[in-house]
Amino acid sequence: MVSLTVLRAIKVTPTLIARFALLPFRKVRNPCLYCPGICLASCPTFLESGSLALSPLGYSRSPALWEEKCAKCWRCTFECPLGYALPEAFGKPLRIEVEVVRGGAPLLVSVEELDLEYAEKLSERLGAGLAVVKGLDARYTRGGPLDRSSIDSAKKRLAAHARVFALSPEAAHALGLEFLPLHPSELGIKVDYEGVVHAPCLLRGVEERVIESLRAAGARITGVDRDSCLKVKPRGQTLYLCPRARRLGLLSIYDLIAP
Ligand code: SF4
Ligand code: SF4
Repeated sequence: MVSLTVLRAIKVTPTLIARFALLPFRKVRNPCLYCPGICLASCPTFLESGSLALSPLGYSRSPALWEEKCAKCWRCTFECPLGYALPEAFGKPLRIEVEVVRGGAPLLVSVEELDLEYAEKLSERLGAGLAVVKGLDARYTRGGPLDRSSIDSAKKRLAAHARVFALSPEAAHALGLEFLPLHPSELGIKVDYEGVVHAPCLLRGVEERVIESLRAAGARITGVDRDSCLKVKPRGQTLYLCPRARRLGLLSIYDLIAP
């Protein structure tokens, strides 16, 4: 759903509404060319640079700029009335594979390139099962659509297990899984932290639930960073819920619960 901030920032005229309404009846390969930038206020590379070239409007017109500069954070997709998936619009199809390394309930789902080290420690600590998704990080770094049959078979393998939790926003977003920081109390996990928490770009719809769950697990949250993107301009004094924070030397929730 388009946020109120965005609706205030963009003039929604009858012409604009008509353009969107007619799009399904036209043969359009790149619907982003038909909008003045309803999603602009959500794009971290635009907010950081102030340049339209480094915004969804620029990227949708220049695959080369998209490849080099778009953070593939997906924030624009949540604001776009068409749900246009610009972060994967120009990339090559990517395949993923799931391997269940150890059975058990709950089953923790790790993305091999992102959080396997954290996942191994946490599954050992909780006596939980562990599954590893291979090839998924590329969707959120290089950009590219996931091959449909590989998603279906990954979902099928995971559906055979009870209580499945994704460690990363990436696995939760791609496979429609429950995000582990939404369930720390249920897993007997305490979160000893006081300060600001960053809301993951990929899970904009569940921010409030995540904050409530972390509070219930003992975190003393003094603020929520909804504006910055870890990949574009990380803010130092913040707790990130993305395992990829470690690559940047920043504090991730897994540094607290699976050190
Ligand atoms: S991604 Fe959607 S909202 Fe953003 S500029 Fe393109 S059409 Fe408009
Ligand atoms: S994916 Fe992120 S960086 Fe790329 S255009 Fe969308 S909001 Fe901007």
